[in-house]
Amino acid sequence: MYPAPFCYHRPGSLKEAVGLLSELGEAAKPLAGGQSLIPILKLRMDEPSDLVDISRLPGLHFMQNDDGNVRIGALSTHALIGRSDLVGAVPILGDCANGIADPQVRARGTIGGSVSSADPSCDWPTLLHTLDAVIVCHGKAGVRTVPIREFIRDSYTTVLDDAELVTEIRFKVPPANSGGAYIGFKKSAPAYPTAAVGIQLTLADGDVCQQVRLALGAAGPRPVTSDEAENLLRGKVLTSELLKQAAEAIVEASDPPADARGSSDFKRAVLRSLFMQAADRAIERAAGTQIMGNHEYV
Ligand SMILES: Cc1cc2nc3c(=O)[nH]c(=O)nc-3n(C[C@H](O)[C@H](O)[C@H](O)COP(=O)(O)OP(=O)(O)OC[C@H]3O[C@@H](n4cnc5c(N)ncnc54)[C@H](O)[C@@H]3O)c2cc1C
Repeated sequence: MYPAPFCYHRPGSLKEAVGLLSELGEAAKPLAGGQSLIPILKLRMDEPSDLVDISRLPGLHFMQNDDGNVRIGALSTHALIGRSDLVGAVPILGDCANGIADPQVRARGTIGGSVSSADPSCDWPTLLHTLDAVIVCHGKAGVRTVPIREFIRDSYTTVLDDAELVTEIRFKVPPANSGGAYIGFKKSAPAYPTAAVGIQLTLADGDVCQQVRLALGAAGPRPVTSDEAENLLRGKVLTSELLKQAAEAIVEASDPPADARGSSDFKRAVLRSLFMQAADRAIERAAGTQIMGNHEYV
């Protein structure tokens, strides 16, 4: 199907883009890589009056690590992030970026678009919860930073105003003796994950868990976190019995929808299994082992 007619705009600067969006009002939409928005338009699930193409705006295609402070421009594509030096410092980024869809989608889709879409099946929002990332937003009123935990309100709903754009994602490189892993369960590479688990932890004094962040994806309207599960692990030696208890606690907090990818119970079973695999991988990485990440395919 063809999208409904719309006016196309290509502003030359961030200021111009924000001005245009503000002038056009809520019926206008920013267009980045188009890998979520264009399919939605073709299915006529949305019919915006205007598309404001931000994909070539200067100043939003960058990735940097300044003394452990990571900044990723909103227009950085999944492919560029997956091939970047950042993956050496934060391997969980590679797990996520290189497992999204296929090379065509990874070459066009952006981290800013993924976060802004707040699609419960998108990988970046879940992963960024494990890094306590902060989202930088530019709007008419200026710049504000919003923690990822507050940024996504509900499925497909963020705190962004109509004329506000995500410009950057920030987080800190985890300290020494840290390891993370992000694993999605997929029917095939170009499919969204049926379920996904992200774990980022720091070990101290041998095997004691000093810090941990856990998140589940495609397991509810927004990424699922659990203070209870994290508190079970913090300050303890990570035995498989304890990890199973934590898996149970966070899966209990989830609400995976039954759909063509499986029943809710099936997805909960997948989440438990992915959790244990991700925990093993994160612990091994925290101990210094270099492991390539990979998703699980049916
Ligand atoms: C076949 C296929 C398979 C896919 N599989 C996966 C997968 O396995 N995992 C996964 O995570 N994703 C998957 N995706 C989605 C893909 O990753 C998208 O690239 C991403 O979700 C959106 O990024 P985009 O740059 O394409 O955004 P767009 O499609 O251009 O925009 C998405 C939404 O965000 C808004 N937007 C975009 N950028 C900004 C910004 N900077 N500020 C404010 N609003 C903005 C747009 O208005 C729109 O509402 C898949 C897509 C396809 C087509």
